[in-house]
Amino acid sequence: MARAAVSGRLTWRVGRLVEAQRETATARTLVLDVPGWPRHLPGQHVDVRLTAEDGYSAQRSYSIAAPADGDRVELTVQSVPGGEVSPYLVDVFTIGDPVEVRGPVGGWFVWRPDATDPVLLVGGGSGIVPLMAMVRARRAAGSRTPFRLLYSVRTPADVYYADELRRLARDDGGLDVTYAYTRAAPDSWPVPPRRIGVADVNTAGWPADFAPACFVCGSTGFVETVADILVALGHDPRRVRTERFGPN
Ligand SMILES: Cc1cc2nc3c(=O)[nH]c(=O)nc-3n(C[C@H](O)[C@H](O)[C@H](O)COP(=O)(O)OP(=O)(O)OC[C@H]3O[C@@H](n4cnc5c(N)ncnc54)[C@H](O)[C@@H]3O)c2cc1C
Repeated sequence: MARAAVSGRLTWRVGRLVEAQRETATARTLVLDVPGWPRHLPGQHVDVRLTAEDGYSAQRSYSIAAPADGDRVELTVQSVPGGEVSPYLVDVFTIGDPVEVRGPVGGWFVWRPDATDPVLLVGGGSGIVPLMAMVRARRAAGSRTPFRLLYSVRTPADVYYADELRRLARDDGGLDVTYAYTRAAPDSWPVPPRRIGVADVNTAGWPADFAPACFVCGSTGFVETVADILVALGHDPRRVRTERFGPN
């Protein structure tokens, strides 16, 4: 049984792009239909493989942005300038096009909707993607688990899922969303743009005494900074789960 489940996750499946929408000028949400897709947990990711006509292939990881829903696999991809795969997925990949997908991958950076401990989510840039799957799963399950999301972005125009997050923060009791801007903040924002620091995490997060489950995701540098801050604030390192997307 266990062997069948593992080999299922290791199988490449052919999915097709069935929906797409821009999140920002440089990021796009892709909904894939992947026949036979096994269920996934919020926080897990997939491997995506593209193969050119000459047989050259490239493979990258992308977090799943939404909870399990049949054969639907939703991703949000940030175009990295000069990148081999992400600019293709954001600007070229067209409805109906095939792509190979393998997964779900990862069993540590996951939130289960029956969990009741308070949750702190800290995302930088595209690091919001697996955290959004958790926020959406909480909603879908009707969970009352208290969630706090601290979302660091360069500018207001770089926020993914902006309308949905506004709606959820307004309508879903127990979900608080705080933004931290690093390059340009909205008019009348109380603090100048700056990199996330101790004060941001301390104010937007939970006291360490509450023993929240912490999930931190973004670039390597962002994740290391936030994880260090959480530990310095007294959080148990074993309660701080991290996912690193790439350089810096
Ligand atoms: C577990 C996991 C989950 C991920 N989930 C997502 C996701 O949900 N959405 C998403 O957009 N990306 C995600 N990524 C990052 C993704 O896998 C790729 O690394 C990214 O799309 C760049 O690939 P590329 O082929 O375009 O660039 P490459 O051709 O691999 O790299 C081009 C240049 O960009 C630099 N670079 C590579 N990755 C990044 C990065 N993440 N940020 C900045 N510079 C980079 C490289 O050092 C290189 O200089 C995830 C990574 C991991 C490990």
